[in-house]
Amino acid sequence: MDNCGAKVTLSGWVQRVRDKGGMVWIDLRDRYGITQLKFEEGKTTQELLSRAKQSGREDVVQVEGVVEERYSKNPNLDTGDIEINVISLITLSASKVPPLLIEDETDGGEELRMKYRYLDIRRDPVKKALMLRHQLLQETRGYLSSQGFLEIETPVLIKSTPEGARDFVVPSRMNPGEFYALPQSPQTFKQLLMVGGLDKYFQLVKCFRDEDLRADRQPEFTQIDCEMSFVHRDDILDTFERLIKYLFLQIKGITIGDITRITYEEAMSKYGSDKPDTRFDMTICEMDKLVKGKGFNVFDQAEMVAGICVPGCSDYSRKQLDALTDYVKQPQLGAKGMVYIKYLADGTIKSSVNKFYSQDELLKVCSSIQASKGDLILILSGQREPTQMALGALRLHMGDLLQLRAYDRYQILWVVDFPLLEWDDETRRFHAKHHPFTSPSQEDLALLDTDPGKVRANAYDLVINGVEVGGGSIRIHNAETQQKMFKQLGFSQEEAHEQFGFLLDAFQFGAPPHGGIAFGFDRLCAIMGGTETIRDYIAFPKNNSGRDVMIDSPSPISREQLNELKIKIT
Ligand code: ASP
Repeated sequence: MDNCGAKVTLSGWVQRVRDKGGMVWIDLRDRYGITQLKFEEGKTTQELLSRAKQSGREDVVQVEGVVEERYSKNPNLDTGDIEINVISLITLSASKVPPLLIEDETDGGEELRMKYRYLDIRRDPVKKALMLRHQLLQETRGYLSSQGFLEIETPVLIKSTPEGARDFVVPSRMNPGEFYALPQSPQTFKQLLMVGGLDKYFQLVKCFRDEDLRADRQPEFTQIDCEMSFVHRDDILDTFERLIKYLFLQIKGITIGDITRITYEEAMSKYGSDKPDTRFDMTICEMDKLVKGKGFNVFDQAEMVAGICVPGCSDYSRKQLDALTDYVKQPQLGAKGMVYIKYLADGTIKSSVNKFYSQDELLKVCSSIQASKGDLILILSGQREPTQMALGALRLHMGDLLQLRAYDRYQILWVVDFPLLEWDDETRRFHAKHHPFTSPSQEDLALLDTDPGKVRANAYDLVINGVEVGGGSIRIHNAETQQKMFKQLGFSQEEAHEQFGFLLDAFQFGAPPHGGIAFGFDRLCAIMGGTETIRDYIAFPKNNSGRDVMIDSPSPISREQLNELKIKIT
């Protein structure tokens, strides 16, 4: 309104043309929003009026005109009190009819929007997501820098860094037959920076992992990568807790209270997951003692019997229960079946195992799991860890069904004391649960030779609303323990030297104790933005097959390029 009467020049995209004969309105859009343009018969020339009518969606135009108070105001628009009475209009660039609607709700499917991402970016939700990302980047940089961290770039053409995925590799023209690997993370480099004496490092860095993609995974993604020297675990947790709290306050205006720390073991036994969603309870309750030895074979033979109590669902129908059974029987979860106990509103009990248990025995199960009348108890049995994990998945599924996982609440926690190693049945050897540079916890060091599967790691994850947002560890900082670790992971001494000799060498020249963490920056954006898909926060993302459908990559390269690289495609 302050500008009423002023002559202005505006440039932007034609969002919409409304032609009422003697009167034409155009919504003009740019990065900052929408302003209404007005062309009125009698006040503008016929020629200008007809050019306004011919303007097409997404034409880029420049207009000159006078700001006027609107007759009917639009409270939904920042500039809704005014409009521009246009005196001249120039089309700077005409547009073809766009393949998708450029509005908050678009008609374009995901692939189409990715192919025309530059059009998608014109839409408000995408623009806002990228603005959020910008803000998060700046706040992170500013905060860490204010705490004395140095942002140091590390190379992109490197040698493999084992983070559990496949490497993307790049052939070297100058060294035919040899390849660089793109970093899965700057792990070894940040450790070498610590050996270099730069005791607080961070980097907002692209990492590359060749693995199967999901909503929260992209082949290239961004980390807030950090490392510190002369620290214990809690120094790191405290430091980065402060970062996370700072970011939530700056970006969301939310004050985060104390962040709980729970052990991996507790996370698994209570939530059946190493990244528990603690926005709701429904925790797992073991019931071996109550249900074994009553003649029900399935339970008697199981290593573990446990269940969850679903509030208010005792009236579930046969069909609903069958659907849940099918859910836990999916191959990824692998349960053989599911037992239910309905604690009905009238205090009686109905169960799929009525034959084996008296009402009294079933009531005891109800009370041990703290069920109230009207609740439904779902029970799985089998090997310990798979049963925990299947219950964990069922718990999340019920949380979704009952809408207990709202995006506007944040539950943050640290999971600590992860196992150091993970046995892989297929390759019949141990893998590093975190990565090979993670230090065993001091108390378990002796077990490394005798019972490696039992060794806990000095490793931690930050989990927000059931999403692993960050992870790190205190590192091994002497060559001997590092060698031992490589040995457990099946590297011969020669292989370890060939691949990581540089690190083992460095550890012989005075390596400080050190540790660090990396946060998945795209995931953090998605969490702050309140959606599930990290793609929304990446300007030019790839699809589920790792393709950039806009530039059509990956793509074949010319014979000359291949020859130069001495590469034959078979
Ligand atoms: N390099 C690790 C990762 O990318 C993080 C860390 O240990 O600091 O998960």
